[in-house]
Amino acid sequence: MQHELSSALFKEAQQVIPGGVNSPARAFRAVGREPVFIARGDGCRLWDVDGNEYVDFVGSWGPLFLGHRHPEVIAALEGALDTSTSFGAPTVAEVKMAELICEIVPSIEMVRLVNSGTEATMSALRVARGYTGRDLAIKFVGNYHGHVDSLLVKAGSGLATLGISDSGGVPEGFAATTLPLPYNGAAAVQEAFSTYGDRLAAVILEPVAGNMGCVPPRPGFLQALRDLCSENGTVLIFDEVMTGFRVALGGAQSLYGVTPDMTTLGKVIGGGLPIGAFGGRREIMQHVAPLGAVYQGGTLSGNPLAVAGGLAMLRALRGDPGIYDRVEASSARLQAGVMSAAEDAGVKLTSNRVGSMVTFFFTDRTVHDWDGAASCDTELFGHYFREMLACGIYLPCSQFEAVFVSDAHGETEIDLAINAAAKVLAGVAETQPASPSQG
Ligand SMILES: *Cc1c(COP(=O)(O)O)cnc(C)c1O
Repeated sequence: MQHELSSALFKEAQQVIPGGVNSPARAFRAVGREPVFIARGDGCRLWDVDGNEYVDFVGSWGPLFLGHRHPEVIAALEGALDTSTSFGAPTVAEVKMAELICEIVPSIEMVRLVNSGTEATMSALRVARGYTGRDLAIKFVGNYHGHVDSLLVKAGSGLATLGISDSGGVPEGFAATTLPLPYNGAAAVQEAFSTYGDRLAAVILEPVAGNMGCVPPRPGFLQALRDLCSENGTVLIFDEVMTGFRVALGGAQSLYGVTPDMTTLGKVIGGGLPIGAFGGRREIMQHVAPLGAVYQGGTLSGNPLAVAGGLAMLRALRGDPGIYDRVEASSARLQAGVMSAAEDAGVKLTSNRVGSMVTFFFTDRTVHDWDGAASCDTELFGHYFREMLACGIYLPCSQFEAVFVSDAHGETEIDLAINAAAKVLAGVAETQPASPSQG
């Protein structure tokens, strides 16, 4: 597989874009090679600028639950293009989109559209603080909520990959409003509430973590948070930017039967266009301007193209009752196939999966928090990633991300991935017969 054009473009890009990329997560640094420049996608397939073809298990990091260029999404975008690209004024489609979100996710009684997941979490946190009149927020180590200043503390994703737990440029006072606690550690949360209860505005979490690799909530964890928040008048925020409309139509809250006060959305709800949303109980959302005193706005919020794409996406998901079972079956097939290949090869591998989010961790520990995820052999992951890429399997370029399966992945593509993994893992066993060195 040749990557000459990608390589030349990457040199050019680095002159004018920091690190040559517009988001650190796509830089391939953690896996020890240069990124591949993508030319186009169709269904679950991708082609790079050098003409190499891949099966895509990134799906733009979550949004493409229906694959690239889904006909209904493309048709809706073409229709919207005929009207203009933006008005900065109310439109019919954004009301339909809000109604559909509220219908599918009943804990959301009112919703505001924004342009990214980061904006959604930033705004939800501000509303929680405005509503409660309190400053402090609990977050969980290894959970990522976008690049919101006060939440760039012990965040997973790109930060975990780069090995920096805190970002530069965040005033100490901002970070000090955040209490980072271990994921799935209900006892630590209980303790924090007994110390700070009446100062806690919000608890924000990924109800299924995806940004330290896929880490499901332990039984009872979400309910324990729900109870503590209710007892203390604290706003429980489920950051469902990744899980919303993915782990189930109604998100993680419908899967686990725990109701948050506020929810943040993004990724899938845009069908690949830039969009996010935050919403929740009417009583809380009434604090948002112009109804209430918490300011939040956006020139391009509710953008007609993003809303058209998103609305088509949500309608397609709601209109196809079999879709979540199909994607569940494909994802289970992938998980079982790769795990059995690892066993055959004698490579220590642990996997976590919730619906179409799957992570293969290069460790023999169970992974239910950041310490578990951090025990992985990231050197070995890097080798696996590079070899899989050479086999035409495009994976997330970090141990601390989830593989995303879409409805466009058929048995053929799942089996291509399993066969590639079997080949690569067998090769690992040959080159590293003893216990692999820790990265
Ligand atoms: C991706 C993600 C975000 C940030 O969304 P952006 O659109 O990248 O700003 C926030 N929270 C979670 C859980 C995410 O996975």
